[in-house]
Amino acid sequence: MTVIDATPPSVKGWCPGALRPMPSGDGLIVRIRISGGRLALDDLRAIAALGRRCGSGAFDLSQRANLQMRGISDAMLPEVHDELRKLGLLPADVGIEQILNIVAPPLAGVDPDALIDVCALVAQIEEMLRADQRLRLLPGKFGFVVDDGGALSTTGVDADIALEAMRSHGKVEIALRLAGDSGQAARVPPERAVAAAGALARAFLTLRDECEAGRMRAAVAALGADAVFARAGLSNAPLARRAPVAMRNVFGAHPLGEAAFVGCGAPYGRWRADDLERLADRVDSAGGRTLRLTPWRAILAPGLDAGRAASLAAKLGRDGLIVDGADLRLAIAACPGAPDCPSASVRTHEAADSFVHLFAGAAPGLRLHVAGCEKGCAHPRPAPLTLVGRGGRFDLVLNGAPGGVPAATGLDLAGAHCALAQRMRHVPPS
Ligand code: SF4
Repeated sequence: MTVIDATPPSVKGWCPGALRPMPSGDGLIVRIRISGGRLALDDLRAIAALGRRCGSGAFDLSQRANLQMRGISDAMLPEVHDELRKLGLLPADVGIEQILNIVAPPLAGVDPDALIDVCALVAQIEEMLRADQRLRLLPGKFGFVVDDGGALSTTGVDADIALEAMRSHGKVEIALRLAGDSGQAARVPPERAVAAAGALARAFLTLRDECEAGRMRAAVAALGADAVFARAGLSNAPLARRAPVAMRNVFGAHPLGEAAFVGCGAPYGRWRADDLERLADRVDSAGGRTLRLTPWRAILAPGLDAGRAASLAAKLGRDGLIVDGADLRLAIAACPGAPDCPSASVRTHEAADSFVHLFAGAAPGLRLHVAGCEKGCAHPRPAPLTLVGRGGRFDLVLNGAPGGVPAATGLDLAGAHCALAQRMRHVPPS
């Protein structure tokens, strides 16, 4: 029998799962962690049908490449669990579910530019997290990111520990970096990478009590990266990072060796069951078999015939999906907001839709975060422009996080338009 954690969670800092769903304004949020982000078309169809049958039919694609099913009622939760179990997507227990936070390169295993196939490495990290009881003590949001050195760099994806394939003197090594000090890395051969990542995670668990750090970034800030690497028995040295991936290389049709892939997204990562089913059908018709979920809120369809990829992208664009990295909707991150989230007093998606046109001709890289409250779920970092909902109105924060000091307060929607239009001319892009 599946053990469900029925403890009502505090929404702040809560990381929902399938076994530990989070109550929200529209019902329970069930987060489905998908190993490696790889999903068969039939599995996506089954998940879409499940969300419609047992919930509101709305899904959010998270920054960790997980699908969140929304609006699930308590009564329907057992059916959701049964179906996820059949699909092999229900973790064994709450403890392991909370720490299975691994973002893999979305094209792992099919990218001819990758330095190594990291699928086995990702599976070994999962196995380590399952097997090592001490690692169950990691905080729920503690995460790993893996980069295979291929076409789509995962540099910049939020991670406590990053593992990056690199070439050095003709050999492939894995560089391990820590949140909060990405300029330093320890380098090990690929066969030692999982053990080294485990040593860093255990070092964090040992050191966090000395500095009361909740995540690796705080431990590095308090003690320095050297202390964490040393506790893990690893030597570190300065090492340059790859550039983050450009969205023009994610969205749309792209060659991939002798085949091609298509990347598409829904505005603000909000998908409907119908969108997911239509996507699966269209990819099926174009000869694709699997999908890859990405931390950029895009879904990729690899393994396509190069001649059919462009027409698939065009069809998905006509369906209303984002298939161009220059799409203005990508300039805005917005959380679910009201009425889905009880912490929100503003309709973030509607507000974001009304701001999109302001970005025509804006400086490349200029980003707006529309947050329903200070928690800032959609972009929990500083952004050039942040609108934060408060009491049914917006505060505007410039070059800061949602909890930053606002430059303007109490703005209605029209006031927010004016404030954005004025300030975005002077705020530098990120
Ligand atoms: S940021 Fe948005 S989704 Fe997150 S708690 Fe606040 S209102 Fe809810």
